[in-house]
Amino acid sequence: MQSRHAVSTVEDYEPFIGRQAVERIVNKGRLLSGRSVAHVNSTYFGGGVAEILSSLTLLMRSLGLDAEWRAIQGPPDFYGITKKMHNALQGAPIRLTDIKKEIYEDVAYQNALRNRFDHDFVVVHDPQPLPLIRYSRKRGPWIWRCHVDMAQPSREIWEYLTDYIEQYDAVISSAEEYRQPWRVPQLVFQPAIDPFSILNRELPEGEVDRRLHHYGVPTDLPLVVQVSRFDRWKDPHGVIQAFQIARRKRDCTLVLVGNVAMDDPEGPQVYESLLGAREERVLIMSGEDTSFVNALQRRAAVVLQKSLREGFGLTVSEAMWKRTPVIGGNVGGIRYQIDDGVNGFLVSSVEETADRLVRLLSDEDLRRRMGEAAREKVRQRFLMTRYLEQYLDLMDAFEA
Ligand code: UDP
Repeated sequence: MQSRHAVSTVEDYEPFIGRQAVERIVNKGRLLSGRSVAHVNSTYFGGGVAEILSSLTLLMRSLGLDAEWRAIQGPPDFYGITKKMHNALQGAPIRLTDIKKEIYEDVAYQNALRNRFDHDFVVVHDPQPLPLIRYSRKRGPWIWRCHVDMAQPSREIWEYLTDYIEQYDAVISSAEEYRQPWRVPQLVFQPAIDPFSILNRELPEGEVDRRLHHYGVPTDLPLVVQVSRFDRWKDPHGVIQAFQIARRKRDCTLVLVGNVAMDDPEGPQVYESLLGAREERVLIMSGEDTSFVNALQRRAAVVLQKSLREGFGLTVSEAMWKRTPVIGGNVGGIRYQIDDGVNGFLVSSVEETADRLVRLLSDEDLRRRMGEAAREKVRQRFLMTRYLEQYLDLMDAFEA
């Protein structure tokens, strides 16, 4: 069916990955044509998983796979519990009461009743829908794809979830150090970005100006930008502190852009805790208009992603793709994107962040060189076609 709507295909990536890679991926897709794949997560909006699935499922479809995306439904207390589980997988303490377990398991059961997951291949993302496997009739392989930073999970959550995880045929995480002693094959796939999405596509300078002007972002001083869900692991208060220190040496404007994912009930609280820091040069803004986020990442002199834990951190690759140098927390998946001192900086404290910020703000040539190296790193490693191919290879391996 011919369509006037913009849906990108693997062929569109040719300028970035070359003809040979396009042909290789298209051929792999052809072999799996008609296979049904369900991706299951817990939100259609907000956060990196939704961002990836909106592109990945369409790209799979463009190759002839019957790819679907389903989000489970649950009441607010369910999301309160799963957010605590998410935090506990990233190392925070948790108290798992029977009532919490009951709510968590009931929601999975209800979603299994409401949906048929009889696909050739089912990929369940993150802890929220994890127990679905217990209540579904399995036809093909089921994969648990965990996006969180599991370098040091809390013992209690680890023991509870292990029962479910070991029912899967494989686990995919975003870094080698997230591997756990589970009796199930474990793979590492790093996430990737879609260069054609509204968030990442090329924007003419005039359009960037219009977006920033529309939202009242001043452009008289260099912009320092962090784009993150309002989440304590993204350390927004640390970002403001680093900015205040750096500003004493190099004047600039900070724009902290954020949103709240539908499955994250802690977001509003984190947002409110930031409002007191608002001033003329500290803007706390909504990042729901993704072309505004695109414009900010492009125009920023420096992007920060000063996370304390980070499974991968798409925002890092997004800014790097736009040739903007990123100062990122030296944690989790950020370390695989930024090569310290080459295409950005890795930092472990507020003071280090402020120091690297002053360095970058003082040296336009350094920003330009790091920005170019950053773009090249993403081109080679973090475009969606690479991620897609890993899934195709995995499906193929299960069929063999
Ligand atoms: N994002 C956005 N607006 C915001 C905050 C985030 O569009 O206000 C997007 C961001 O550009 C990225 C995704 O949401 O594509 C967040 O993914 P990431 O992996 O950085 O972090 P997560 O939220 O999954 O922890």
